[in-house]
Amino acid sequence: MNTKLALFGAALSCLVTASSAMAYNLNYCRGVPIKWGTNGVTMRASSTSFPTGYWRDGLQRTVTLVNQNPSPFYFTLVTDTGGVAVKNGENEVWGSTNSSVLQGSPAITHWQDTCYWLPIIGTVTHRDEADVVFDYNSPFQWTADELKASIWNYGGTRRQLQSTGIHEFGHALGLLHVNTEYNIMGTDFEHIWANGSTARGYLGEDASDGAVALYGPWSASYEDLGVAHWKYASADGQYSHHVKTGVYDAAGTVLPTVSVNGEAAYRVNRGQTVQVEFTYENNGKNRQTVNTGWYISDDDFIQRTDRRIAVNTGMTLVRNDVLTYRRTLTIPADLRANTNYWLGTIVDIDSVVPDNIPSNNATYIPIHIN
Ligand SMILES: [Zn+2]
Repeated sequence: MNTKLALFGAALSCLVTASSAMAYNLNYCRGVPIKWGTNGVTMRASSTSFPTGYWRDGLQRTVTLVNQNPSPFYFTLVTDTGGVAVKNGENEVWGSTNSSVLQGSPAITHWQDTCYWLPIIGTVTHRDEADVVFDYNSPFQWTADELKASIWNYGGTRRQLQSTGIHEFGHALGLLHVNTEYNIMGTDFEHIWANGSTARGYLGEDASDGAVALYGPWSASYEDLGVAHWKYASADGQYSHHVKTGVYDAAGTVLPTVSVNGEAAYRVNRGQTVQVEFTYENNGKNRQTVNTGWYISDDDFIQRTDRRIAVNTGMTLVRNDVLTYRRTLTIPADLRANTNYWLGTIVDIDSVVPDNIPSNNATYIPIHIN
């Protein structure tokens, strides 16, 4: 008996079940997770939608950010020849104004899977094709750089190609939406790492965990700790909604804010005891126990040379757990009144982890001294 059932799906049409740890969601064929039959998959970029230079570089950067994961799975980006289409036997990436392809989404991934059952052999399943399509209708404005000032939630007007692209390539890799945890397969433009003038989307702990669930851990060393000033807020349909982490008074009541460069700056008093909140992630292979510091900076770029005001020793971070953590601190009494500062944090202050992506180990929250 050999009945072949061709499955096809799209990002809008998946069911979601999840718990908070191991929140990632996979596609299943008769209980078997659906994945590619190889760890290296080639995606073909339209040269019309992604011409050489700015847009193609942004797309390549997107693929690189997806490939920064602790599984052996990776995408390779090449230039497409011939036409692009869903279900043409090629994995392609393009921009479209076709509403029947986009289905109302700013970006969408269409996939085709094989799923059938044979006596003795059992379930046979694999992914056959994935196509990532971005909405190129004129009112929709993307940016393909990593300048913080360009993007939503940081005073800009554009949506970052990389953050949405990582979400879509996450679908292509085999992941479904998640609405129970801070993660890229939720609302991608609220899953951002930022420090100084740079902001970028990233795969993050939960999608990295999902990649390992599908493809196993990479044989090579891959470690990456990170910290973000975003956290899980609520479920918004299939998507998690995230908000920026905050600064609270000693009792845990959120402090009032003023706007500084398009971001909320929390009003604090000199010498005040506050709770400062950040989200720490382990996007790498192995459990790590590290020291974490909190800093005061007179700009939005947090670095080890800034003034350190607190340390936690022995913070343990594991893949499979996003840690949104509040630390009680005292705002130094000698800061200038009526002045903006940035409260920062750095994970692994002693650089003991062989971190493949050390740049994401620091971030900040703006404060305004009353
Ligand atoms: Zn999606």
